[in-house]
Amino acid sequence: AISPTAIVSDACASYSTLERLNRNVKPALDDLTQTTDFFSYYRLNLFSNTCPFWSDENGMCGNIACAVETLDNEEDIPEVWRASELGKLEGPLAEHPGKQVQKEKPKKPLQGSLGENVGESCVVDYDDECDERDYCVPDDAGTTGKGEYVSLLRNPERFTGYAGDGARQVWDAIYRENCFQRSSFPQSASLGGPAQARGPAAMDFKAVMEAAGRKEVLEQERQQNPLTPFVAKTGLEHEDECLEKRVFYRVISGMHASISTHLCWDFLNQTTGQWQPNVACYVNRLHNHPERISNLYFNYALLTRAIAKLGPHLGEGGPYTFCTGDHDQDAETRAKVLAVTENASSVPQIFDENIMFKNGEGPSLKEDFRNRFRNVSRLMDCVGCDKCRLWGKLQTAGYGTALKVLFEFDNNNEDIPVLRRTELVALFNTYARLSSSLAAIQKFRAMVEQPETAT
Ligand code: FAD
Repeated sequence: AISPTAIVSDACASYSTLERLNRNVKPALDDLTQTTDFFSYYRLNLFSNTCPFWSDENGMCGNIACAVETLDNEEDIPEVWRASELGKLEGPLAEHPGKQVQKEKPKKPLQGSLGENVGESCVVDYDDECDERDYCVPDDAGTTGKGEYVSLLRNPERFTGYAGDGARQVWDAIYRENCFQRSSFPQSASLGGPAQARGPAAMDFKAVMEAAGRKEVLEQERQQNPLTPFVAKTGLEHEDECLEKRVFYRVISGMHASISTHLCWDFLNQTTGQWQPNVACYVNRLHNHPERISNLYFNYALLTRAIAKLGPHLGEGGPYTFCTGDHDQDAETRAKVLAVTENASSVPQIFDENIMFKNGEGPSLKEDFRNRFRNVSRLMDCVGCDKCRLWGKLQTAGYGTALKVLFEFDNNNEDIPVLRRTELVALFNTYARLSSSLAAIQKFRAMVEQPETAT
């Protein structure tokens, strides 16, 4: 197996390098994801899939009771502040037009209004096919006419009040996918349901978390030296844990950390009714767990590398058109995409995908890794809050796309990653989520360290 030292030397960047990079990337990413139709509408199956792993009676959230743990006396607060209201989607939904209509490339919005000046041609996917190289289950694989378009701008990722047993069950099941204790398992069958959830795999999760705890002191020491390579800060660098398993854990923990960052940053103060940062939330969920912050930064590096690798294929002459029929809009969107990819390429390679799945047990792990990540994406159908499910699905699709770009395509000009529109939108929006998490963490850190000067 590859030793932890090898990872440090091959995938190296400090917190400060990533934060400096993010100061350049963030404006470009915000511009791309907040001002273009192509990247601000996402198509997914939000409502038509049921949770494939357990039934609603087994603690699935989606009802008020789930939220009571965080919102005391929920009935006493105004309805608009209740978790069930906070978690609802805003804005018009447009249904997927279906393949038949897609071929005709309609000029007018089909159903619902997607907002002003949004041409339907900019929000249509032409390719729903599933690919064996996918790390995610495409939301509408093999089907037509399914899925809805949702405005990401109208539905920001923020505090919703979704908590309690339902949310906990989903996170536990996600982390259980990290336990690579079985040498092989049938695709889509690793989660058997609640009985299995309480079995040995759950104990492995506990061991992983305890191991992370033991590393915290080391973490804190290392964080005081910003030049320490960030990959060394995983908190999970066990001698017996190979790179691939560690990367899997870091991706999901980093995603979890990013979600926590956003809900703490955009938190509803139920006393004043104001949306504002909640420092105590940050301290409890992130500041006191530096390995989670480290994993978030790791994800930022991972996505930076995936975007940089994809960059050369996104220019003129490549397979991507961004919008069919409108040359000006197409060119404008492309220029904004390239502004992001050029910034992401401005640092030396900070994650080396070429050392993954190569040595030791690595090659045999690849399919397992991919299948487990697909299960994580399937688990998003068990999230019992619409807005959380939207961002959970988008982000697992974004990470899945990054892993596909990194591990399924060679670094040569002939092996061109061709992605579905939804994958591209998910990838860039997930990068934008991580980018805003980095910015929020820096501000939170200032609030904790210098509360009197922090704004
Ligand atoms: P949780 O965040 O539920 O964590 C459960 C346990 O996991 C913790 O006790 C800890 O042991 C461990 N843990 C926590 N963080 C990490 C980490 N980074 N790495 C490793 N282990 C960790 N709520 C919102 O308000 N807005 C949202 O948009 C939102 N989106 C969600 C999306 C998904 C897919 C899911 C499953 C939940 C979402 N939630 C959202 C709920 C939110 O993530 C929490 O579950 C909820 O706030 C309750 O938090 P908690 O303190 O009980 O701990």
